[in-house]
Amino acid sequence: MAVVKANGYGSDSVKIAKKLVSLNVDYFAVAFASEGVALRKSGIKTPILVLLPQVDSFEEIITYKLEPSLYSFYFLENFINYIKDKSIKETRCHFKINTGLNRVGFSESEINDALKKIKNAGKIKLVSLYSHLAASEDPNEKTYTYSQISLFKKMTTYITSILSYKPILHMSNTSGILNFTECEFDMVRAGIGLYGYNNHLNNDLIPVHTLKSIISQIIEAKKGDSIGYNRSHICRENTKIGIIPLGHADGISRSFANKASVIIKGEKAKVIGNICMDVFMVNLNGINAEEGDEVIVFDKRNNAENFAKSAETISYEILTNLSTRIERKVIG
Ligand SMILES: *Cc1c(COP(=O)(O)O)cnc(C)c1O
Repeated sequence: MAVVKANGYGSDSVKIAKKLVSLNVDYFAVAFASEGVALRKSGIKTPILVLLPQVDSFEEIITYKLEPSLYSFYFLENFINYIKDKSIKETRCHFKINTGLNRVGFSESEINDALKKIKNAGKIKLVSLYSHLAASEDPNEKTYTYSQISLFKKMTTYITSILSYKPILHMSNTSGILNFTECEFDMVRAGIGLYGYNNHLNNDLIPVHTLKSIISQIIEAKKGDSIGYNRSHICRENTKIGIIPLGHADGISRSFANKASVIIKGEKAKVIGNICMDVFMVNLNGINAEEGDEVIVFDKRNNAENFAKSAETISYEILTNLSTRIERKVIG
């Protein structure tokens, strides 16, 4: 199962999904129904699991043959009410089990009640039973992960014994795939790994995203001059300042101010001053740079995980924050 939520982790969900269809992917997962609708409208016929559907999206789910996750009584009861009055024979759904992430899903004590409601509704087919790991990237939490895996085995064995058919079982995200082969079950959900990342950069994976810009202007600032809003940087020497047309409206958070670096002519140029809405500034001293030169914010070598670290965040956040204003080019 390929996870293409959040616009394919900040890239282009439709283009990524079409490529994956050509590679025979079995399933897609998105977070919300609208993301699945976008895939369907582009002609994708592959089954689509909606991980976190909301009660205002029943019509989209049915119209576009999306497969909702059943994860709470609130969602389940409203969904059953909705399908009761429709001339639907069977809806394909997925049952989310909480094994310790304590985020979404039915806990062990709720399983019987939930299954009773599903059986009574009559029209629901549980295509899969699944859960999500809390710390699959953390070797210090192995014991916890194993306890989640064994609870999942116990609960799915029980549920399968009640149903008259055998649903698909799945539990691993990217770090689960890489770190816990005993967690493969029938299917795995690859998200950020598809894009070349995992939580502890594994050199076998090649990050696919490159974020590029240019130097749109160069300013010669004098010793003592302040740079940008709130004067958060004062030049300690005469400084050549590069103006880069990317800002917090593009997903470069203000927390990168005075911390991150970008690559210009193979050299590191430090971000100075606050990040503005549409631009940020870098120190070009010692770099033989001119207006119009290419700026690499991140690529496969100076990757988004390293860039993210300078502002104490993770690749997931920086990639999915890239706003629609940034032009996407899919190469290859
Ligand atoms: C986002 C998500 C995934 C994918 O996780 P990665 O760490 O990106 O591989 C898998 N399962 C669920 C339930 C998710 O929400």
